Parts: sequence; C-alpha cells; structure tokens
Amino acid sequence: MPLPRQRMIFRRPMPCGPEPFRVGGLLWAAPRRDVASGAKAKAQDDNPYRETVTLPQTAFSLRANSAVREPEIQRWWAEEGVYGDLWANNPGEVFTLHDGPPYANGDLHMGHAMNKILKDVINRYQLLKGRRARFVPGWDAHGLPIELKVLQSMPRERQLELTPIKLRRKARDFAQKTIDAQREQFKRYGVWADWEEPYVTMQPQYEAAQLGVFGRMVAKGHIYRGRKPVHWSPSSQTALAEAELEYPEGHTSRSCYVALEVVDGNGVIRADGPSSLAIWTTTPWTIPANRAVAVNPEIDYVAAAVSGEGGREGGQIVVAAELVGRLSEKLGKQLTAVSAFKGRDLEGVTYRHPLFPDKVQPVILGGDYITTDAGSGLVHTAPGHGQEDYQVALKYGLEIFTPVDDNGVFTEAAGRFSGMAVLKEGNEAVLAELEQQGLLIKEEPYVHKYPYDWRTKKPVIFRATEQWFASVEGFREEALEAIKSTSWMPASGFNRINGMVEGRTDWCISRQRRWGVPIPAFYDVQTGEPLMTQETIAHIAEVVRKHGTDAWWQMPTEDLLPEGLKERAGSLKKGQDTMDVWFDSGSSWAAVAEKLPGLRYPADLYLEGSDQHRGWFQSSLLTSVAVNGKSPYGAVLTHGFILDESGKKMSKSVGNVLDPKVVIEGGKNLKKEPAYGADVLRLWVAAVDYTNDVIFGPNILKQTAEVYRKIRGTIRFLLGSLSDFDAQQHSVAYQSLPSLDRYILGRFHSVQMELDSAYSSYQFSKVFQGIQRFVIVDLSNFYFDVAKDRLYVQGRSSGSRRACQTAMHHILAGLLSSIAPILPHMAEDAWSCWHSPADGRRHSIFKNGWRAPDDEWRSQWSDDDVLAWEHVFRLREVVTKALEVARENKLIGAPLEAKVLIHMEDPSKIERAVSFGPNANGVDELRYIFITSSVEKTTEDAAGQAPHCVSVDVQGLGRVTVGVSRADGRKCARCWNWSEQVGSDGRHPQLCERCLPVVEEMGFELPPKTVEDSLVGAKS
Ligand SMILES: [Zn+2]
Repeated sequence: MPLPRQRMIFRRPMPCGPEPFRVGGLLWAAPRRDVASGAKAKAQDDNPYRETVTLPQTAFSLRANSAVREPEIQRWWAEEGVYGDLWANNPGEVFTLHDGPPYANGDLHMGHAMNKILKDVINRYQLLKGRRARFVPGWDAHGLPIELKVLQSMPRERQLELTPIKLRRKARDFAQKTIDAQREQFKRYGVWADWEEPYVTMQPQYEAAQLGVFGRMVAKGHIYRGRKPVHWSPSSQTALAEAELEYPEGHTSRSCYVALEVVDGNGVIRADGPSSLAIWTTTPWTIPANRAVAVNPEIDYVAAAVSGEGGREGGQIVVAAELVGRLSEKLGKQLTAVSAFKGRDLEGVTYRHPLFPDKVQPVILGGDYITTDAGSGLVHTAPGHGQEDYQVALKYGLEIFTPVDDNGVFTEAAGRFSGMAVLKEGNEAVLAELEQQGLLIKEEPYVHKYPYDWRTKKPVIFRATEQWFASVEGFREEALEAIKSTSWMPASGFNRINGMVEGRTDWCISRQRRWGVPIPAFYDVQTGEPLMTQETIAHIAEVVRKHGTDAWWQMPTEDLLPEGLKERAGSLKKGQDTMDVWFDSGSSWAAVAEKLPGLRYPADLYLEGSDQHRGWFQSSLLTSVAVNGKSPYGAVLTHGFILDESGKKMSKSVGNVLDPKVVIEGGKNLKKEPAYGADVLRLWVAAVDYTNDVIFGPNILKQTAEVYRKIRGTIRFLLGSLSDFDAQQHSVAYQSLPSLDRYILGRFHSVQMELDSAYSSYQFSKVFQGIQRFVIVDLSNFYFDVAKDRLYVQGRSSGSRRACQTAMHHILAGLLSSIAPILPHMAEDAWSCWHSPADGRRHSIFKNGWRAPDDEWRSQWSDDDVLAWEHVFRLREVVTKALEVARENKLIGAPLEAKVLIHMEDPSKIERAVSFGPNANGVDELRYIFITSSVEKTTEDAAGQAPHCVSVDVQGLGRVTVGVSRADGRKCARCWNWSEQVGSDGRHPQLCERCLPVVEEMGFELPPKTVEDSLVGAKS
C-alpha cells in the first residue's frame, strides 16, 4: 500500500519558500513587513495578475507534525517490510554492524539514543548504497544489578525464602519487561532492526553458544581454576571485574608506618641495639596476613639511628636511603644513616611477624612496583590480598594466606581478630594491637584512589578465593596482534585498548551469584576436585539449548552428566558459580554474528561508548582471539558521553537528565518541552563531533530544530517548484542548461561527493555541515532567490523555467537521498509527496538507493567555469554593498528599483559565466543574478557619477566600481521589475516586455475597468 499522504493539503497557492530566504522582491514573496502592512497586502489581493503567476504548490507542509507523521511512516515501513527486503535482497555485499547489548535495566537515556541513532545512520547509508546491512539488536540480561533489583523489591524475610530458581524467574521477568519497554523507545527513534527477533543473553540458544565458547577455551587450555586475589565486594559477596569498579574521589584510608623487628640481619644489618624494618601500608587489616617484606634489589637502603621524642630511641630502622629526610620530618624523629646497602643485599634477612611473634619471616626481592614515591621503600607483602604480593609469593613459594571470609570478616585463622569486619573494627583492632606492642611508628589519614563496587557504592577488598580464570597470558600476543589488525576510530582507541590488554592480568570469569550462565563444573563431594571435560560441557550446552540455564539449578546432577559419567552422580555436586556478564556479552560474536544468516564474523563494525575498551570491546576480543585467533571486528568506532549545557555529566541525582522520549514526544508542558520528533534528535546526533564528549540541552535542541526547519523549507520549496514538472517530458539536456544551472549542479556534485565520503568514514558532523551550508548558502541565499523570477514569472513551459526545474529535480533527488540516513522520516515523507502513487505501488525512498551525482556535472564543467563564477560572486558582494548604501540613503527601496552601473578592468573575467546585457537564454544576465532591474557595463567615470557608488580592489578582478541609480521606466505590476516598456501596450499598460507575451500566451485579459484605471495611473 502507498504511504498515506499528509493530511494537510494546500488548495490555495501559498507564498512558498524557506523562511530564511532573502526575498528578491517578487510579487508574492514580498518581505514580511510588506505583507503585514494592511494596505500593501490589500494591493496584492487586488492585483489582477495574481493568477498568472506560477507559485509553488505542494502537500509537503513546513510543519513536520512529527508526533503523528513519524509513527505513521514507521508503521508503513513495517507493513511494507522495507528494511527486511533491503537487507535480504540488496545486490551488494553483507555489511554487519554488530550491536553491543545495552543492559536490560531501567530507562533509556540520551547516551542510548545517541548510540542507536548513530548505528541506524550507518546502516541506512549502507542500505542506500545497496549493501545487505542486517541489524540484530541485543540486550544483556544477566548479572548482579538485575538480581539486586529483584532482591530490593521484596522484604528481607522473603529474600531469604527465595530459591535460586525463584530468584532467576523474577530476574527473567524483570529483564523481559525492561527489554519490551526499551524496544518501543528504540523503535520510536526510527531505528531499523530485527526488533521482533533480537538477541538476548538469557535466550537458551544464546546461552548454549556461550557455553560453546567457554568449552572451546577449555579445550585450548585457556581456562583454569586458581586461588588468587581478586577484587571482592563484601557488600555484594562476589568477585568483581575491573569494569565493575569505580574509583570515587576523596577516599581516605588509615595508613600506618610499622616497625618489624629484625631477627637475623644476615650480616648486613648490624647494630648493638634493636633494629627493625619500617613498612608502610594503607590497609592495616592485611597485616595479620603478612608473609614477607619485599624490597627493590636496585634501590639503596640504609639502617638509620633514631633519636628524638618518644619510643624506639637508640634503635635503628631500615628505610630507602632517598627517604631518610622525608621520613625524619614525617615521623618527627631524627634519622641518621649508620650503614648503607643495596636492596638485593637484604635477601636472607628475617623479621618477626608483628602480630604473631612466633612466626619469623623473610625479606624478599620484589620488582619495579617497589619505589620511593611513597612509604618507606620496603613493602609489606600479604600474598592473599595483593596482586604484586601474589606474584612475588609464587616465585618464593609463600603461602597465599587469606584469613577473611565472603562477608569481609576475619576468619578463625586470624586468631584473636576472628569475627571482626576487616574494613571496620578489624582495622581498628589491628592498629590498636600494633600501638600496644610499640610497633606503630605513625598513623595518618591518607587520601587516594580506592576501588568501590559500582553497584553498592561500597569499598571492595582484595582477597584470594577459588575462582575460574581465563588465562590471558596464554593468548596475549595473539590478542595484541588482533588489536593491531583492527581499525580504531578515533585512533586513540588503539593505545587505550592496547595498553589495557598489555598490562592486564588473567580474567576472573566466575561470580558467586545466581542470575547468569553457570560455570559448567562438577566437584567431587569428598575432595572438592573439579570435573569439567569437553564431553561434560558439550552435554550441558545441549541441555541448555533445549531448556535454558534454569536446567542447571532444576535438573538432578545425573541428568546433567553425559552417559558415561552418570554413575558418578552420587559423588559429584554441581558448581554454584555463574559467569561474569562480560563473558556473556563477550560471546555475542559466536551467538549472533557467526550464527545468524545475513550477518558476518568478523563483523565490519562495533560502535559503542569509549568506556567499552575496558568492557565489551575487550571481552569480545579476548574470547574471539582465545577461540579463533582473530579479532571479532574489522573496525571499532567509539563515541563520547553526553554532558549538559554547562558541561556537567548528566545524572539522575543532579536532575539534569534529558529523556529522549520527552525530546521526541514532548513533556507534560508542551510549551516548555515541545515535541521535536525523532528526526530533530537524529539531526543533533549527526551534528555533533560524537568522538568526544558532547553537550546537549534545551538551547542546543532549539538551534537544531531551526536547522531542521531550514532543510524542511528547502525541500518544500523544491517540491513546490516541481509540481508541474515531469522529468521524462520536460527535462532539459545538460548541454542546453544555462550557465547558472550548470553552476549549481557543479556545486551540488562536489557537495554530494563530500557527503558520500563523510558518510562512509562515519564523519556525520561533516555531512551535517555540508548539507547545512548547501541548503542555506547555495540554495536559500542564492540559487532559489535568483530562480524565483524564472519559476514564478516565466511561462510555465518556457525553456528557462524548465531548465531551472531540471536542475531542481536533480538537486531534490540527490538531497533527499543525502539526508535520508539522518532524517529518514522527512526524506520518506517528501518522497511520498513527490512521487504520486499513479504507478500503483510507490516504493520507499530507501529502495531507490543512493543518488550519486551525474559525472557530467563535473566533467563538462571546467575549472575556468568555476573560476568565472567565483569572480561573479566577488562582484556580487560589491554590488550588494552598493545597493545597501543606496537603500540607506533612500535612493531605492527594493533592489529591483535600482539600475546598476559597473566598471571593471577586465570584464572578460566574468563573461564566461554571465553577460552584462541581454543573453540568448534569458537567464545568465547580471540583472537576474543581482535581482535588479538592469545592469550596464560602463566607464569608471560613468559609474562613479551615479548617485551612489562603491569602488574597491577585488581579489582577481582589480579595481571594481559599482554605481547605483534609480531604474528607468516604471515598475511592472506582475514581476516588479522596472522597465521603460511598461505602459507601451494598450491592453496591459502595467506590464513589462517580459510579462506581456507570457500573459498573452495564457489568453489572459484584464477586465476593461482595470485597464482604464491603470491607464490613468500610467499618465499620472
Ligand atoms: Zn514584468
């Protein structure tokens, strides 16, 4: 069915033309103030020639009425299956922009809108270019945030009753509801996608594919179970990935300097009195788990005698040589170096554990992480609570000791601290004990960056637990190669992700939560030994494909085991861990791009916010490289974040969030929050440099709506001017077009080439600027202004009018296809107004494809032509200035009342483009270009003697003198041009020599009374 037409049809000719047009002075397009003045308006209505003028006519209204019209167009696209038809049947290659799944939690914000609109602009452009761009949208549905939302929605006692399966059902319902709501909003942005068949990480087929990725990584030996310090959130009792942490400003820790009594100086530390090693830590609660002191082998250390107020007099402490001065000041003691040695000499020294004096522990050699930037240069080493500590402990075979449980509370292994929360009373108790032992040298608050749980906003700890890991070490080199082979836009993305992958540790992929895909491992009830083979994983993946991952919690262990292992069911238990959600979404290349028809893997493009170098870009890269040794994408494009108009980050708590829904549909008070429609929002997305953070707010929106209106007005004027033009019948051959029309086509050729290249390199702000400049500067301010005379006044079928329409026809076709990716509703709407459904079925503009400019417009248009027109425009600037002067001095009102006298040194510089006097085609004359009644080439003296004159040196033209005097003759009542011929015809004494034949050809006659009146007028 054809797209229903706009309801508003103009039956009466309307004063058409985009608002910002400078009006040349034609009859019906008089300046506003004239129309507003009652007398003049009446004079127009009385003008007998009104009906002989051809005004633009179109059903395409200046008002978009987007609240009604956009949904109508969207429904029509859906009914016609336009998008599905294009991606399946286009002649070109497949193009896959693989969607990063937003989290199915809460409302959409401007960031979501920008992301999906950018994707849609890219896909629509690709579809127009004939490529098969299928877009399967996704959602990320598992994970802690949704689990927490479910828990927070019920009282504590009900939470405790919740079985894993009940919790999972509630989480699933919550996610599904969110997805349904978000989907409707995304559709309203005008985004084309497989909305009815999205991919969701909680779909059984997705989960099965994810287990497939996991299985292939196990087969390659990239998955292992280990005890290892990870970021652990006591507040949500789970391990957290780096992407789940935030580092708020202003975190203050209680840092302390502690003296550890040296037991054996190993011949290096020699003293009569006691000596100690000075350590410094910001986490006193980790001191019970201390297993060594690490020094940097390359740094110089000293044993320093301590004197001054307070304890430890007479003894020595070991610190980095460079820090002696700073520490003296900080500790308020006099430190005097007694002996010096290299760090490496300290290996073999032992000391007494400050809290458990029976334990004697070693000084060991650490790495570059030990510096003299802060502390003492000696590092307290607790392998169960620190990454570097853990690494060095492996080297020395130290115990990975972690006397802290899931809740962040000391276990019995911590002795007298057992039962205390480490971040609260545990920390206090440790400090108190050290103080009591006389080992606390100094305690002070310390402000630094400290990781917090991104959801609970509570501090996390570092703690060694049994976890599943993906060994990044095993494929790091391949990953770095894959990063190199990918195109990163902007280029800074390369350094970001390259640095992250270079420096990252193994990926902890297990979580102690319920709402997710299970780690498919069984454990021996007796020994705790895990069982996980290719066979077991494949079997579980098959079960999951049929029943979803609920099966893991519902089905008996026996059913989850493959045939040969069922008899062991009695001695095995299912694991309780789920996978990190980044593993979920990071498997989407396998579950979606690799699997679905019409998509390809590696995808052509991933496009997300610049925070995803740490998140989805990286997790997708790691899984893809681990399994297939290649990047999942050919190119990665990132966008920044959205700030409000004062440059602040948008956040709910600040209250500066703008809801995309309100932008499109309007708020409660439509005066304050008007409904701008999806196209205006899309135009804003195209306008900004999205590769950086961008600013958005009510004022910016208003300005964008203004540009939208200008584009719309331009298209309306083109449509209106073409209402009686049939391209087949009326087109004028390029070679026969006037120079002016060839000029505008030449301009349009280069504009369209620029737009095409900007689209294909994702530089939409260049597209926006290119369209805006062409519409305002080239069309509104010049070409249309000049063209109105031909369009309105010339005979309908005259060659010059048809020539103008031919150029406008090409421009409209090209312009509509150029704006279509960004403003699809406007483009489709205009297209439907342009092409009447006379041929039965009307196709969507998107089926018409990208309209490339005709080569002829450039190849037949020489550089000399271009230069001649540049000269015309320079001359026009001078003429405009001279007319302004004449107007200011009340010599003339409208420019049509002027005669322009021009002297230039070398007139041939413009005569290739236009002529001074009458030209055979009646178009390429300066009087029309300047919209004055006449232009004469004259001597410098003659021009200088005109009542008003401007004389300047113009680049490329030399001295130019422009004089302005009043036009000769009288004003033509029909075209407002002045001419000495007005009054020479008895039947039409008010008309000029141009209008006369046009009116006569129409067979138009004035009523006798009017002729008499005008004769009287002519004599007076
Ligand atoms: Zn006339």
